[in-house]
Amino acid sequence: MHCPFCRHPDSRVIDSRTSDDGLSIRRRRQCPECGGRFSTIETASLTVIKRSGVAEPFSREKVAAGVRKACQGRPVTDDDLALLAQRVEEDLRGTGSSQIEAGDIGLAILGPLRELDEVAYLRFASVYQGFDSLEDFETAIAQLRADHARDVAAEA
Ligand SMILES: [Zn+2]
Repeated sequence: MHCPFCRHPDSRVIDSRTSDDGLSIRRRRQCPECGGRFSTIETASLTVIKRSGVAEPFSREKVAAGVRKACQGRPVTDDDLALLAQRVEEDLRGTGSSQIEAGDIGLAILGPLRELDEVAYLRFASVYQGFDSLEDFETAIAQLRADHARDVAAEA
């Protein structure tokens, strides 16, 4: 990390702080050459390996864009989508791996999306899991109904 003032190629860390969401670290640095102080923000990279084998950085925007299609006409706001994408990122980082398969993102989306909107969830799952018959939808809906029944029983 070059000093932004004198371009000295080295700097000393004088303070480190983890961000509130735990996803990045902010470091206060001081240049040993000119004494200038500056901050850096470090984020551990999360790489997505696409089906084609191409690697690209994880993007919350892409997650939100992918889910937005399934949410057309549903009472889901951009804030909801941003929050969902954040949860997906946290879940993926929580696996402790810095490289994830594109398919794992779809899997990580299913849980939070189901909590957000069940119709959007069914739409998304039908594409992601490749539903090709009414039976596939029936199975997924039966699962949702069974979970509802369990929730009601738990509350009673
Ligand atoms: Zn300097």
